[in-house]
Amino acid sequence: MATASKKPFTAAQFKKKVLQHLNVTSSQQDFHNNPSAVQRAVCMAVNEVIFEKLSQTNNYHKEHKTRSVNYLSLEYLMGRMLSNNLHNLDLFDVAKKAVADLGFEIEDLFEQGHDLALGNGGLGRLAACFLDSLATMDFNAYGYGIHYQHGLFKQQFHQCRQIETPDEWREYGNAWEVCRPESVQTIGLFGSVETRINADGSEQKIWHPGQTIKGVPWDVPIVGYNSKTVNTLRLWESRASSFFDWDEFNSGAYQDAHAAQNAAETISKVLYPNDETEAGKELRFIQQYFFCACSIKDIIARYQSMHGNDWSHFADKMVMQLNDTHPTIAILELMRILIDEHNFSFADAFALCRQCFAYTNHTLLPEALEKWSVPMFERVLPRHLQILFAINEFFLDREVSAMWPGDHLMRRRLSLIEEGEVQMVRMAHLCVVSSFKVNGVAQIHSDLVKSDLFPEFNALYPQKLTNVTNGVTPRRWLKACNPALSALLDSKVKTDWPKHLSSLASVADFADDSKFQQQFMDIKHANKVKLAEEILALTGVDVDPNAIFDVQIKRLHEYKRQHLNFLHILALYRRLLNNPDYDMHPRVYIFGAKAAPGYYLAKEIIFAINKVAEKINNDARINGKLKVVFMPNYRVTLAEKIIPAADVSEQISTAGKEASGTGNMKLALNGAVTLGTLDGANVEIAEEVGDDNIFIFGHTVEQIKALNEHGYNPHHYYQTNAELKAVIDWLYSDYFTPGHPGELSAIANSLLDGGDPYRVMADFESYCQANIELDKAYKDKARWAKMAIINTAKMGKFTSDRSIQDYVDNIWKLEPIVE
Ligand SMILES: *Cc1c(COP(=O)(O)O)cnc(C)c1O
Repeated sequence: MATASKKPFTAAQFKKKVLQHLNVTSSQQDFHNNPSAVQRAVCMAVNEVIFEKLSQTNNYHKEHKTRSVNYLSLEYLMGRMLSNNLHNLDLFDVAKKAVADLGFEIEDLFEQGHDLALGNGGLGRLAACFLDSLATMDFNAYGYGIHYQHGLFKQQFHQCRQIETPDEWREYGNAWEVCRPESVQTIGLFGSVETRINADGSEQKIWHPGQTIKGVPWDVPIVGYNSKTVNTLRLWESRASSFFDWDEFNSGAYQDAHAAQNAAETISKVLYPNDETEAGKELRFIQQYFFCACSIKDIIARYQSMHGNDWSHFADKMVMQLNDTHPTIAILELMRILIDEHNFSFADAFALCRQCFAYTNHTLLPEALEKWSVPMFERVLPRHLQILFAINEFFLDREVSAMWPGDHLMRRRLSLIEEGEVQMVRMAHLCVVSSFKVNGVAQIHSDLVKSDLFPEFNALYPQKLTNVTNGVTPRRWLKACNPALSALLDSKVKTDWPKHLSSLASVADFADDSKFQQQFMDIKHANKVKLAEEILALTGVDVDPNAIFDVQIKRLHEYKRQHLNFLHILALYRRLLNNPDYDMHPRVYIFGAKAAPGYYLAKEIIFAINKVAEKINNDARINGKLKVVFMPNYRVTLAEKIIPAADVSEQISTAGKEASGTGNMKLALNGAVTLGTLDGANVEIAEEVGDDNIFIFGHTVEQIKALNEHGYNPHHYYQTNAELKAVIDWLYSDYFTPGHPGELSAIANSLLDGGDPYRVMADFESYCQANIELDKAYKDKARWAKMAIINTAKMGKFTSDRSIQDYVDNIWKLEPIVE
């Protein structure tokens, strides 16, 4: 094995490699004005190291027949790769010096890279952090997903409204992927099922697909930090199974042959830009089956290369983790292959599946729980539907009936099929029934999965439901994105913190040390100066780095309550207009968020924030005490720039709605103080940092439930809170939209006539109060510095390495590379 610590290159050797790639590979003699060519050459030089380590990793696992986890996810939000790969290989300083010798700043070369934005938000970013941790901890892991031609849309603002344009992330190629034609898979769709009676009288089903699709794998190497491992993320691209149907071509139907090709390639064309909403589209269903079927065949091929056709070790060697219900069809595909192609009985096949699938639940929101209509399911995957019905029969007749004999209501409630005008397949039920473990993603969320979402399943399978609290990789979210703070930490604690984040705990010893406070806050200030420049460049708004940088960055969704933040900004603005001497430390509100293109109210919230920002930012009456910026095109790369500069982290979802959140962890790790509800991982962050170092407000889960039981009435808050009434009335006027009264009224309508589904009105007052306390705390510089330091110090629990260790201990049972 390659050793973890030995640097493969000196700066001089690295420079030579880069020049070689410039001269030979890309024939770029005149590179001095061509940072893009230099960036590509640097990537290729790094790839020499990466691919050698990749094959060493693969050889080790082949030789040791290591058990592996197969992480199935419809989304991976990788961001840029160069900076992280350099850090993880300990080549950062070497590369920095080498490119400096060539006349470039390494940071400018990073700017040439494109985000791999093959995901929407937290769920996809979690998958990316997990891959980083798995490689860092030397576990044998494969990520499987889709090689979308277009990732998440690019966001621009035109007249304050969101405009979506296609993401062209690999228009000119991508240095971090390699095509593996030797591992192409072919999968079926549509068609019919034949029943054959064998000579011994047994029945056999044969699926005759109406169409076949080729899956072409693109491998993205995943480099561990200071480890022996380079793992693989395998992304499937769909192609027509043969370029031309020659008969059709010869008979003059050239266009038909091309039409078939286009249909096949449509499958991996676009990422569905929905977050927390079920798409319910046949093409999305086909995307899911396409990548699951390719992945299961690939997993079987990897298994068979070690064990041939002896299936007795399969469950010892392979575990499949389903990142939400999106990859659930993988279960049915493995069942089909075992039964139809390897002569397993139904019972044996199902027993095997129940040993190797585990499922992560990411949401309690009913609109996000996947359901597929039975007629559509049958048309696309007729054989899989038969297997699903067989599982349902086994489940209801053997397990539900044993636990609740004669209870037809219970059968109806738990069935994999929801009855109604059109029968629907409940994908989450299929997951719970067929998996050996089901986990939520923060303690409070996992408790609610047990008590509210799946109480009957918890009774039926008492050990199955469990918790693994999410985490984030400190390599990307501190070391790489905040080099100045990282250097300060290195000077104070063991420098192993990127791999053992709990080492940061002793930074708390310096929380009261005024010199350290000064150093810590000087770095925060320098990061704010840098972000202020970025804000000016991207939005034209001039902000003061001495103001509080108050950050809310996450997908735009009612449950995340950007509109609660917005109402409070209006309240502050109003206070300042009524009293220009109103006592508050200047604050800059920084938003970053994409709205799903079909989500009307989310887009109205973006519009309203932009409109109000326009007015506030240009209002001389308030002496620059308040600024509001909505940074366009929020994505991993933008998060990496905003997070190191944040003073306040807004985590203000309605209690019980945010499964975990991971933005909350990234921000706290970089010394931002959380202003949040007792929801998701905020609860655990509060436990770690202590009540003095976080601002908690709002109704708890129990209090929200009590509100609902008494009949929630948003008008009550409107009538009894004069400030709340005033800011809501403002939205019906034309104050922010001269000549267009009511242009911002969508938010007000949803809060009053729409019943305020996310209880914004109920939490407004407590949010205002928490903000007053926060303002007071910030004015006391030593107190604030101490809070910020303690937040960074106490984030040890929230490294994704801890999450991965929890999965390994309780679910995956893997062994790391030892040599
Ligand atoms: C971390 C991250 C998220 C998740 O943020 P939450 O606040 O947990 O919703 C979403 N998008 C990007 C780009 C991220 O980096």
